[in-house]
Amino acid sequence: MKVRLYEIFTSVEGEGILYGTKTLFVRLAGCPFKCFYCDTKEALPMTSGKEYSIDEAKNLIENSLAKNTYKVNFTGGDPLVQSEALYELAKFVQQKNIPTYLESSCFDSTKFAQVLPHFDYIKIEFKTIDSEFVDEDHYSKLLENELQCLNLAANSGKVTYIKIVVSSRTKIEQFKQLLDSIFSITSKSKVAGFIIQPTYGMAEPDLRQLLEFYDAVYTYYEEVRIVPQLHKFIGAP
Ligand code: SF4
Repeated sequence: MKVRLYEIFTSVEGEGILYGTKTLFVRLAGCPFKCFYCDTKEALPMTSGKEYSIDEAKNLIENSLAKNTYKVNFTGGDPLVQSEALYELAKFVQQKNIPTYLESSCFDSTKFAQVLPHFDYIKIEFKTIDSEFVDEDHYSKLLENELQCLNLAANSGKVTYIKIVVSSRTKIEQFKQLLDSIFSITSKSKVAGFIIQPTYGMAEPDLRQLLEFYDAVYTYYEEVRIVPQLHKFIGAP
């Protein structure tokens, strides 16, 4: 089995409920989608990065682990695209007693279910329809998969949190419909956080919009937070 890695590096976690933690990022190459705000466009082609055998990739991870690393974040691209290799690498890290963290758009609940046993922290990223992730015809299929992934992760007892990127294009009514779907299938006691992340550098939402999104989530989940990407402010990758 082979895996295509775009890059591997230690930095500060810039997003989500564990922002600020020293993290080894393993960025897998490849994502077939097209979010307009994507900040890793260079890692989207399946031909980007470099191909390794699984043993070579394990050695690379082992040799890249700095002291005091809080967790290993498998990111992309979308790491689920290479789910079999992801399974092997996450299992390897877990066996070293280092927490594993999955960053994915959760576009495929079958692949997600396969890798889930080897992840400790799960970020379920729900895409809004304005993200341009997929076209309108395919959006309901994406949402179905994301909801199934949320259900699987929350019921597995793993630390599961939700993230939604919002922009000035995000419509509050569509955002509320998304929340209805999310909280109709999961109880808030099973969710470890809800992050609203504003886009940075393009179509940025203003404070009025952000507070509207916050209020909409607060109706369901009081521990909602608006958190911009920290690493953009400290010049970290
Ligand atoms: S799913 Fe993630 S990696 Fe893929 S285009 Fe969207 S933001 Fe970029």
